[in-house]
Amino acid sequence: MDVLERLQKISDTIAETCRQSNRNPKDVELMLVTKTVPVERILPAIQAGYKIFGENKIQEAVQKWVGSDLAPTKPEFIGHLQTNKVKTCLDVCGRIHSLDRVKLAEVLDRELQARGESREVFLQVNSSNEESKFGVSIEDALSFAKEMRHFSSLKVTGLMTLALFSSDQEAVRSCFQRMKSLFDEIQKQDLYGTDFRHLSMGMSGDYQIAIAEGATIVRVGTAIFGERNTPNSYYWPEDKQ
Ligand SMILES: *Cc1c(COP(=O)(O)O)cnc(C)c1O
Repeated sequence: MDVLERLQKISDTIAETCRQSNRNPKDVELMLVTKTVPVERILPAIQAGYKIFGENKIQEAVQKWVGSDLAPTKPEFIGHLQTNKVKTCLDVCGRIHSLDRVKLAEVLDRELQARGESREVFLQVNSSNEESKFGVSIEDALSFAKEMRHFSSLKVTGLMTLALFSSDQEAVRSCFQRMKSLFDEIQKQDLYGTDFRHLSMGMSGDYQIAIAEGATIVRVGTAIFGERNTPNSYYWPEDKQ
């Protein structure tokens, strides 16, 4: 199967999973995660009309998406964002899915103020409590969400998480359920009004569970583009930098 055939198959699975969970397929968007995938393999997806792409490393985003055949499409940023890469990230990427600390919010907000711009961001939550994952803890997430309201250039429109990497489906499901409760609570407290509407969770191995538990964006890489040569630990380092 080529990339477009796999995309069709995944779109069908998403629609079918929505039906089974009494959800409208229009409420679930597919992000194509293109880390390590070269330009020429991404291009057909853009030409076929797919709109949401995710990159995990700033340097790779620059190399592939600036001044190439992929422009003017911009990827969204789903990786760990270092403060010294904030300017480049704002230049090259669209939405940022990984706001996970106050210091980063300060640097982003200051730079956006200077530019007279605002930017859509998601709060990254560590729903599995694994040391190796970035994100604010579930316990701290609500107060973090409240604090983020002080940064007027940051438009918080959703939450993002990576669930436990495990073959224990119920343990994975618990991560998604914790996220959905948090998401509902933020909506109930009306911290961000109706703009707050995205729950980005679910990857190649667990997106069907995520949809059943309320995901509005699933982020899929391997199932579309095939296995990567780099191990996941390259993206989620054991020692957080
Ligand atoms: C790589 C990555 C994905 C996609 O993972 P696959 O298992 O390849 O589908 C999703 N989210 C983030 C943050 C990633 O880095």
